[in-house]
Amino acid sequence: MPEPTLCCRMCGDYCDRCDLLVKLPGLHVIAVERDGRDRLVVTVESAPGPMGCRSCGVVAHGHGRVNVRLVDAPAFGRPVRIVWRKRRWLCPEPACEVISFIEQDEQVAAPRGLLTARACRWAIEQIRREHASVNGIRRQLGTGWRTVWDSIKPLLQAADDDEARFAGVAVLGVDEHVVRHEALLFRMEVRDLHRLAVAAAG
Ligand SMILES: [Zn+2]
Ligand SMILES: [Zn+2]
Repeated sequence: MPEPTLCCRMCGDYCDRCDLLVKLPGLHVIAVERDGRDRLVVTVESAPGPMGCRSCGVVAHGHGRVNVRLVDAPAFGRPVRIVWRKRRWLCPEPACEVISFIEQDEQVAAPRGLLTARACRWAIEQIRREHASVNGIRRQLGTGWRTVWDSIKPLLQAADDDEARFAGVAVLGVDEHVVRHEALLFRMEVRDLHRLAVAAAG
């Protein structure tokens, strides 16, 4: 019988199975732990590779890392935390206004976001399709009400603004009608959420 081994050690640098389970675009799992509050803590990083300065495009120099902690959608019945070991870069071009910058990927999370992009999508889906309350979502994510609300509010607002684009359209095709109906439903939910937010705050 072979000794039990971490699957990650058997697969070389990164583990395809762990990456498949966690599935954050461009990121690889390097550790999974359970914290004292029974949350899964998943540490991820991007594969090493050259990076161009986002302003001038000159090849940047690596300059350590910054650990960014994010709330992710729950998995296996537990709240999840992602620790993203973001790479920090220095631009060597003296004429460039960018001195240093940190790895970003909006597909994973908004630059100063507290929730991953998919946790935001999950939360909104829970509200739209499962009639979940913000408090129920907060509980499942294992975070504060304010954290959830501040993360999803701009997305709900953007969807609401989107709906306004349809306001002047008189003739709609079938697909457009479905979209508009969805948008109207969504707008009602946004109003309800605003009311709930005011009630909870007061
Ligand atoms: Zn693995
Ligand atoms: Zn630069």
